[in-house]
Amino acid sequence: MSPRPVNATDTDIIAMLRDGHSNTRINRELHVDKARVSRIRTQLGLPQHARAGQTRSLEQKWADNTRPTDDGHLEWTGEHAKASGTPIMRHKQGFYSPAALAFEIKHGREPQGYVKAHCGRAHCIAPDHVSDAAGRRQTRLEERARRGMTEIAATCRYGHDLSEHAKFEPDGTLYCGQCNTLNKQVRRDPSLPRRTRPRPATPGESFRLHTEPVDGGHLRWTGYVAHGVPTVCHAGSAYSAYRISFRLHHGREPVGRAMPTCGKDGCLAGDHLADRPMREANRRADKAYAAIFGGAS
Ligand SMILES: [Zn+2]
Ligand SMILES: [Zn+2]
Ligand SMILES: [Zn+2]
Repeated sequence: MSPRPVNATDTDIIAMLRDGHSNTRINRELHVDKARVSRIRTQLGLPQHARAGQTRSLEQKWADNTRPTDDGHLEWTGEHAKASGTPIMRHKQGFYSPAALAFEIKHGREPQGYVKAHCGRAHCIAPDHVSDAAGRRQTRLEERARRGMTEIAATCRYGHDLSEHAKFEPDGTLYCGQCNTLNKQVRRDPSLPRRTRPRPATPGESFRLHTEPVDGGHLRWTGYVAHGVPTVCHAGSAYSAYRISFRLHHGREPVGRAMPTCGKDGCLAGDHLADRPMREANRRADKAYAAIFGGAS
């Protein structure tokens, strides 16, 4: 490579920074002041260059302190935090999480949030057995989809926006992360005011507060039942929860009774409900089918 002019432009420096080169290398190649490179790096918000050698020695130290177990996990033989027993690693005045390093070794990127073992063995640091917050969420969403629990309400029962605060248990059950945080604060400081539920503004909101998705894409009623009918009480009036769900899903009032056709008693999933014209249309279709192919379906 031919030597660059002494007065290399910022653009030259930025190009090399974006390619991931160290300040020293840019200084050597472009013959520019290291302080200038460092200043531009800071202005661009680029991380300080981690020397490959440093990364290697970090990984080596990690590997030196691990021991495979007979049943396929990986134990940390180094230091553990006193109270929690969590593995920790000291390296050149810094503290590192061996679990996070295991994650980086496997994925080649920094983890998001806490890294934890998902294999069931506490403090396992096998790179294949650890996941970060993003990975856990993805796995739980897949579990949820597998169980047909696809519906997510717009808000939790305390009115928090679930497009932002929805969290999931390992079995896919949804909970509100904001409520969880607030509950923890109340437990730490019981003098905090207890949260009050906002009053639902419409029968539809009231309906959503009293339903929960269950396996198979069905929707279970958790509210008041009058004469065997799930009933929404709103602003002094009572409504059939079936009718409200039907209206929310189909955008029109049901004709006759709205009833589940999915075979699950009391299911309130909007797309599992049919009204009289829909039932009649289904019967006609069944008859036509029987006439064409013979026999009852
Ligand atoms: Zn494991
Ligand atoms: Zn909430
Ligand atoms: Zn159903």
